[in-house]
Amino acid sequence: MKMDEYINKLIEVINEALKYNHFVRDKTLQEKTVQELESYILAIHQNKFEAEQKGAPDFFLNRFFHFQCVMNSVKSSLNMWIKLKEGKNYDAWCSLQDAIDYIAYSQKVEEQMSGINDLQKFFMDCEKTLFPVFPLYNSSGLLFKGGTCSICGKPLEKCEHIEEYLYNGKICKRINITDVAINHIAMVKEPDDKRCIIQEFQSEDGQMYDYMTMLPTKEKPHDSENKTISGIVYNTHSLDIF
Ligand SMILES: [Zn+2]
Repeated sequence: MKMDEYINKLIEVINEALKYNHFVRDKTLQEKTVQELESYILAIHQNKFEAEQKGAPDFFLNRFFHFQCVMNSVKSSLNMWIKLKEGKNYDAWCSLQDAIDYIAYSQKVEEQMSGINDLQKFFMDCEKTLFPVFPLYNSSGLLFKGGTCSICGKPLEKCEHIEEYLYNGKICKRINITDVAINHIAMVKEPDDKRCIIQEFQSEDGQMYDYMTMLPTKEKPHDSENKTISGIVYNTHSLDIF
């Protein structure tokens, strides 16, 4: 199959998958669509690898990367609906954040399929309408040291690659990190990672409540001076961006 034909096929698969990107679609059909997308993503990796072995130029490999990200984004969005139906609200929130991150990565490529901006807006609307507003997020001042460049394998301080930049259809990341230092934990409005949310809060009477469902969770000793909140300070998610 020629590259253009292949890209058209991928666009067709994505548009078909988007038909299931609504809450009311059947969960089993959504799960089946996720599996289909996974098989296409696997094939994109294989094709990208083979093209790289043959010395294909940057822009060519980046086209594979674009569709790898768009497919992962749609897959994450479908997972959000599936998790919501299973009552796994935090997992659904994380899947939505994955979908948003994948779309942002897909936009690092100049030549994009049409409809990307609409998809991005759809996810932003989901964030606002499906979940409560999180006035603050947790932010842990983690300092990552050591590790190597995901592109060339050298220590990141000693190579020419820049973290989060796209090279030959892959994102440069610091991997195999050896040293992590926590410098502080803060609550911020604009976090690096929106997966770090408040999960529980304490009311006046000392009762803890789930921030998403508003259901009572557990009793906590009542302290009139201080209120307890609990949440996620670090989420070890990994995205398929290599
Ligand atoms: Zn490097």
